[in-house]
Amino acid sequence: MENKRIPDIFACRVFSEDVMRERLPKDVYKSLINTMATGKEIDASIADVVAGAMKDWAIEHGATHYTHWFQPLTGVTAEKHDAFLTPVGGGKAIMEFSGKELIKGEPDASSFPSGGLRATFEARGYTAWDPASYAFIKDGSLYIPTAFCSYTGEALDTKTPLLRSMDAINTEALRILRLFGDTATKRVTSTVGAEQEYFLIDEADYVARRDLFYCGRTLFGAPPVKGQELDDHYFGVLPPRVNLFMKELDEELWKLGISAKTKHNEAAPSQHELAPIFSTTNIAVDHNLLTMEYMKKIAPRYKMACLLAEKPFVGINGSGKHNNWSIATDGGVNLLKPGKTPCENKQFLLIHAAVIKAVDEYQDLLRISAASAGNDCRLGGDEAPPAIISIFLGDELDRIIESIIDGSVYSNKDPKYMSLGVPYVPSIRRDTTDRNRTSPFAFTGNKFEFRMVGSSQNIALANIVLNTAVANSFREFADKLEGAEDFDAATDTLLAETFKAHKRILFAGNSYSEEWEKEARERGLSNFKTAPEAYEHFTDEKNIALFTRFGVMSETEMRSRREIFFESYRKIKNIEARTMLEMTVRDIIPAVSKYIGKLSESVNATRAAIKNANVACEVDIIERLSELLSKTYDAYSALERAEKSAIAKRGEVEAAFFYKDTVEAKMQALRRVVDEMEILTAREAWPMPTYGDIIFKI
Ligand code: ADP
Ligand code: MG
Repeated sequence: MENKRIPDIFACRVFSEDVMRERLPKDVYKSLINTMATGKEIDASIADVVAGAMKDWAIEHGATHYTHWFQPLTGVTAEKHDAFLTPVGGGKAIMEFSGKELIKGEPDASSFPSGGLRATFEARGYTAWDPASYAFIKDGSLYIPTAFCSYTGEALDTKTPLLRSMDAINTEALRILRLFGDTATKRVTSTVGAEQEYFLIDEADYVARRDLFYCGRTLFGAPPVKGQELDDHYFGVLPPRVNLFMKELDEELWKLGISAKTKHNEAAPSQHELAPIFSTTNIAVDHNLLTMEYMKKIAPRYKMACLLAEKPFVGINGSGKHNNWSIATDGGVNLLKPGKTPCENKQFLLIHAAVIKAVDEYQDLLRISAASAGNDCRLGGDEAPPAIISIFLGDELDRIIESIIDGSVYSNKDPKYMSLGVPYVPSIRRDTTDRNRTSPFAFTGNKFEFRMVGSSQNIALANIVLNTAVANSFREFADKLEGAEDFDAATDTLLAETFKAHKRILFAGNSYSEEWEKEARERGLSNFKTAPEAYEHFTDEKNIALFTRFGVMSETEMRSRREIFFESYRKIKNIEARTMLEMTVRDIIPAVSKYIGKLSESVNATRAAIKNANVACEVDIIERLSELLSKTYDAYSALERAEKSAIAKRGEVEAAFFYKDTVEAKMQALRRVVDEMEILTAREAWPMPTYGDIIFKI
């Protein structure tokens, strides 16, 4: 691949502001940009002109079709392609695309999850153009980002509530800014940068294992002789094949205007990470989904498979998605930037207080936003945050908050620069705080990093929760302060009250430790260890109150989503259980049985050749494997029975809990015996590549 200049290719496939400026009449361009910048309703009369310009531009770039691109509640994106083609009689056709087609689509919605919102016979669904996300060209089609709703107007996607939550935080944050005398800011947006972790393995290994193939993660596998204990992979040299993959990935993403910036090896062998430069939330979500899609798509070009599952290999670090979140004004000011003297920066402290309050009050919702069957395997595993939500602020902020709570004077004694003791190496400015890698929600200087989200998850819900919960804090603060006689005094009181009330959510120690679990319980923090336990709380009264207060989700929409959470958990566990059953009887048992037969033959042959030959070794292995084989069949049968009972469960909630409480244990039991057999079986006789084969290959 030749080297192209980044500026030449960056966003070349995006209907970007530059393209709009170039191709739209001035007034139409202004109107569209105004909608994008302020979130104000689009003037429908410009749709025809915009559609025409989009079509011409798309055709010039090789597109023949357009598609309304949306994000149903499946966790992945959906698209249906229509050609621009319109017959005009006489056997001729022209390329057409109207404003109506741009604004509204009518995909048959019956096959998307609706959580009981819609019976399959009521198939109609609508997609509506989201002018705040850029259209782009991919694989010969013009992609129009859209929101997706049912015939009755309920959102059936992740995008709609996200846009609503952005609106909520804008409205309430502006009230806070006005209180501090800011009259210039017109819009406040939440900004997000999602760091994406993933694994790359050889495609042949991927195809050779049904568990990877069907479930994206291994369900069997004895621990390899060498794991990640030498810490030699993290930030290590990129293997050539991976390097080529990353290079092509970067280029493809750049063309779509995705600012892929950082890439490196992660902690586990075969694990890597990509981080983009942050952007507005809706765009960050679109871009993260596209990034995952391209990772999967490009890997096979290098005969590799990309694993996005949270825990592809037991005992090896899993993958997450660090959701970096902040809020910024349209003037480009990051509202979480502390400035030189954060202790005197009341606005900054108030915004911090709002986040702390939001995270404490809606711990359960944040936990739910990162809850999935896949992430259950990762959270709490001494490599990823525990299931308990807490906030790490760092030394300086901790001390400022302490002083606000007890009314003492804060003084900063931290040396700002440090010397490395080598004369010609310049002294470097030290950050005001060290990092805490174990915290699920850490302040990292000018943004918060939510580290709980799983690598395969859509980050929309995490940001919906953050935006709405923080909007809620802002609203309560503004209600109190707008009428205050003495604004400064009222702010001080509010800060002290808020920090005191929500101090319990702050934790600077080791979040992986057992002591923390105990302490968190004493502090009254929630600790939902599994997804179903967390899901139950989605429709708690306070949570319905939060989302309906800001019109982010209606109660009906929330109930349907809760149903879908359980439904997808149940389906994933069902597929995993069935995959294990299939692998056991069709691959593993036949292979081990055959190997036992081979050993037995060899024993007989040896005895025939040498009278009184010592075959104790073979006989011992035969005995041990036969014993394990019979245990395997018992465990298989137990799982089969449990799976049958699970299928018989009527409700989604009941079924999900049955999988978690009963089926999961049977899966683990089956795995234990099979893994023991793996260790005793000859390499060539084992029917699939092992952990050691897979993770060190590339
Ligand atoms: P770190 O080393 O703390 O992970 P980086 O600077 O590498 O920090 O940033 C990690 C991610 O955070 C990147 O995707 C980056 O774009 C994003 N990020 C940085 N600033 C912000 C911000 N103000 N809002 C949202 N995300 C941000
Ligand atoms: Mg980071």
